[in-house]
Amino acid sequence: QEAVSSAAPVVVGSSKIITATSVKVNVSMPEAAARAAATGADGVGLLRIEHLILGLNKTPNWFIDNHREEEFIQELLNGIKVVLDAFPGKPVWVRTLDAPTDEFRNMQGGKSEPIEHNPMLGWRGIRRDLQSPKQFRLQIETFKRLWDLGYDNLGIMFPMVSHPNEFIKAKEEFKSAGVDVENVDLGIMIEIPASAVIIEDFVRAGIKFASFGTNDLIQYTIAIDRNNENVTDMYWPKHPAVLALIDRAIKACREGGVEVSICGQAGSEPDMVTWLVQHGITSVSSNIDAIAKIRETVARTEQRIILEGARKNYGL
Ligand code: PEP
Ligand code: MG
Repeated sequence: QEAVSSAAPVVVGSSKIITATSVKVNVSMPEAAARAAATGADGVGLLRIEHLILGLNKTPNWFIDNHREEEFIQELLNGIKVVLDAFPGKPVWVRTLDAPTDEFRNMQGGKSEPIEHNPMLGWRGIRRDLQSPKQFRLQIETFKRLWDLGYDNLGIMFPMVSHPNEFIKAKEEFKSAGVDVENVDLGIMIEIPASAVIIEDFVRAGIKFASFGTNDLIQYTIAIDRNNENVTDMYWPKHPAVLALIDRAIKACREGGVEVSICGQAGSEPDMVTWLVQHGITSVSSNIDAIAKIRETVARTEQRIILEGARKNYGL
């Protein structure tokens, strides 16, 4: 099916309603790219590259130890390219590797993965990349080749960031690999409460965008394991503390002119999306199957905001 441009005339169905708040889509695998683009989404708010890597059944270190770096780069590059090609001219935010060590354990090379008591709080995301320069450079080299090929819609998002120094160090790695860092979009996930609390420092550090990873942000804010069924009932996306963190981060990003989005599961829930639009989020990214409903929710919420504003202004 052909991709639908958001600039296309409004003709059929809710997927073509134009909204001020961008409605993007989450993509896990290149195989889903065409279906994701057919929703008419305004871009990709999250491409999780660990699925591409986990699908190879080998750890990044395996490729490095066996001098098969080029193979790793080609696999990653070809997978990301499929998604970029499905969204021409629309932003595609690719997230750097974020797999907990236990997910690598059974793969080739997995025996050298550290055994961690709590992998969710362990060696993953930007922490692992900053401590594993070779692994990080393979990813950066892949992104650089894509930018060199002209894919300027590619943006890179760092997961599990808790302090601006991590963003600054990551950016330096890109710079020393020859990337023109001031002219590409580098941003962060807000999924550790610390990063929401000191979001102003990230804005000052030059993030181009931020996206709420609510799956983790919720679990770390209210100490509810997202994968533990004993506490599933207490996993509460709209817990006031979660909303307070999100609210202050949206305000700080908007004041700093930084795009602020959501790519956690809560971004596929109409109730949460209504709240987010009311609180000024600039884009949302949802699952493929939720796009039509979320676009409609965003449109209705925006209409309500406009109507309420007009009523107030004109004393109606
Ligand atoms: C999140 O934490 O909300 C997120 C999008 O990342 P993941 O679910 O991959 O941890
Ligand atoms: Mg996460």
